[in-house]
Amino acid sequence: MAYQSTTDLNTPIEYLKGVGPVKSEVLKKELGVKTFGDLLQHYPFRYVDKTKITYISDISENSQYIQIRGQITSMAVIGNNRGRRLTAKLADETGEVELVWFKSIPYFQKFLQKGKEYLVFSKPTFFRGKPNFTHPDIEEIANPNIPLSSRLMPIYHSTEKLKAKKLDTRGLSRIIQNLLERLTPDSIPDFLTPEFVEDQQLMGRYEAFKNVHNPSSEQHIVSAQYRLKFEEFFCFQMRLLQVRHVRKKLEGIVLEKLGDKFHNFFNNNLGFELTGAQKRVLKEIRRDTMTGSQMNRLLQGDVGSGKTVVALMTMLMALDNGYQACLMAPTEILAQQHFKSISKMVRGLDINVELLTGSIKGKKRRSLLDYLEIGVIDILIGTHALIEDAVKYKNLGMAIIDEQHRFGVQQRSKLWLKSKIPPHVLVMTATPIPRTLAMTLYGDLDVSQIDELPPGRKAIKTVHRYDKDRLAVFGFVRDQIDKGRQVYMVYPLIEESEAFDYKNLMDGFDSITRAFPPPNYRVSIVHGQMHTVDKDFEMDRFVENKTQILVATTVIEVGVDVPNASVMIIESAERFGLSQLHQLRGRVGRGSEQSYCILMTGHKMTKHGRERIDTMVDTTDGFKIAEVDMRLRGPGDIQGLQQSGFAGLRMGNVVQDQKILQRARSAATLLLDEDPELEKEENQALKNFLKTQAEQQKLEWSRIS
Ligand code: ADP
Ligand code: MG
Repeated sequence: MAYQSTTDLNTPIEYLKGVGPVKSEVLKKELGVKTFGDLLQHYPFRYVDKTKITYISDISENSQYIQIRGQITSMAVIGNNRGRRLTAKLADETGEVELVWFKSIPYFQKFLQKGKEYLVFSKPTFFRGKPNFTHPDIEEIANPNIPLSSRLMPIYHSTEKLKAKKLDTRGLSRIIQNLLERLTPDSIPDFLTPEFVEDQQLMGRYEAFKNVHNPSSEQHIVSAQYRLKFEEFFCFQMRLLQVRHVRKKLEGIVLEKLGDKFHNFFNNNLGFELTGAQKRVLKEIRRDTMTGSQMNRLLQGDVGSGKTVVALMTMLMALDNGYQACLMAPTEILAQQHFKSISKMVRGLDINVELLTGSIKGKKRRSLLDYLEIGVIDILIGTHALIEDAVKYKNLGMAIIDEQHRFGVQQRSKLWLKSKIPPHVLVMTATPIPRTLAMTLYGDLDVSQIDELPPGRKAIKTVHRYDKDRLAVFGFVRDQIDKGRQVYMVYPLIEESEAFDYKNLMDGFDSITRAFPPPNYRVSIVHGQMHTVDKDFEMDRFVENKTQILVATTVIEVGVDVPNASVMIIESAERFGLSQLHQLRGRVGRGSEQSYCILMTGHKMTKHGRERIDTMVDTTDGFKIAEVDMRLRGPGDIQGLQQSGFAGLRMGNVVQDQKILQRARSAATLLLDEDPELEKEENQALKNFLKTQAEQQKLEWSRIS
């Protein structure tokens, strides 16, 4: 046999048979596919069993994805504006269904021809008892160019622009098959050792790629997918664990002693006994900051568990050793809240606390930055403005990040550059995150947990009420107010429909003032469109118990702390996300009185909406809520994931593949225990692979490793 050079996966895609300059351009633009290797990782999202055809008369409301075969009998474009659509009737010998397109109408008008036979693959939906298919996968049967190769046909995601260049799922499949023909086991060497592959019972790498695109059986698909998912999770965990390992060896600021500021606060200002969990966490932090290596710790604690005071005492540790500290919050409102409460907590201790947010500008900002640089400011509180390049500290020793899930690894790493020796970092999250997600988001951090609420708190009672029950709800509110309590009423204000929501809020406010008239009752209102002074004024009246009801938008979601408030009413609760509902509910139950959360909805709710409400009624456990939240939303929506490098997962899914992720994490831990620097001969392939991957993803934090 003639010598055949191996195909390099880095070969630009235009060198592939069937891909010219035009197709390569659109592949780059639409899918980010630049090389052979990239194309290989454009995985099918499902497979069709070509031998299975469903008769139209057999379609039922329970039908999942099915394949039907029939002739187009008629076509029409109907409706206008957003309702404009192309409908086509497709008939087999047993009946007729409707196919519908809202997009790409001209394309399908041309593509579909009356009298021709088509194969349609989709999940039916039912409208007035009849099945129809919206944007189905459809292909002509009598197309002689397309071989019906294997029984299991891979289906690929495509886009309108790709389709216009003949790269629909079929076209993609064809060029991927061309690629597979060129590949040999040598072109896809395994970076995992044979022993490892055997231990983990993985399919070989070459086999996996071949089978995922060209499967010989369902079982082969499962094994191929398992291998590829495992490898994604494994590599990601390896990199996180390596970063952590390397960082533990980096020099960190030594906070030798606890001094006056810490002790004076503890003895004179604290005002309550710390919970066991708070003490434990403070000890963990204290231990970290004395070792001489940099602390990177995640502090998890449910809403109301008392993270703020831990944050403050952690900052005081830095101050006592001559360093500055900063606290970064995700929103301006929360930054202001922190600024107010921390200023109050350190009153009389000779500590200079300042606030820096995006809205502090001009002269004020310049002098603030000067004071920061010469070290006059001890604690700086703010938004992400704190990590802008222009912000220079004299000697930042401790950085606290609150509500971290909105900050990614990259932003965190920016903080490290703020000081010659990187400051210690404590990341606080109030929204508990599922364990597997934590592994991905915070896999490089050590974890502390406040798993205990301050004493004397009663579990919040949560109920669901419909709009028609409003009178009864108002009666209950009146009782509570007469007993001396205060009440929140929250309205959704979601950007896209802001005008509409704003009207709802104002109408709500009017009807509440009518139902709760002065002088017996006073109502405050706070929303995002108000000026800060007005907002503060209204807020303060509520805090000082001069008003009994606070009508608000979600601006009060985070941070607000009024222990006397015992009722949280959430209007149109079905429109809120679970973590938001959980945060809102956390605004009550802070005092010693029994607290209530009332979720108001209309009768119409989506399945997910109902499930969110039911979850809230069933549990106050933030971790359970987070699990449901992740399941309902999917990981793609969760903030912070994008920056975490998590977007690099092409096949693995942290929700569905938790078991694989856990196995990959254990395997990575084990391997690094044996060979922390990946120095062993047999691990060189892996080491190189990880290096290349990190370079490709250009993650900020990989640079320090
Ligand atoms: P979160 O963890 O949600 O940020 P906070 O730090 O705002 O919680 O604390 C919630 C409330 O509990 C605050 O009013 C705070 O003063 C109070 N608190 C915190 N720790 C304790 C404690 N050990 N004992 C009593 N009250 C506490
Ligand atoms: Mg907080």
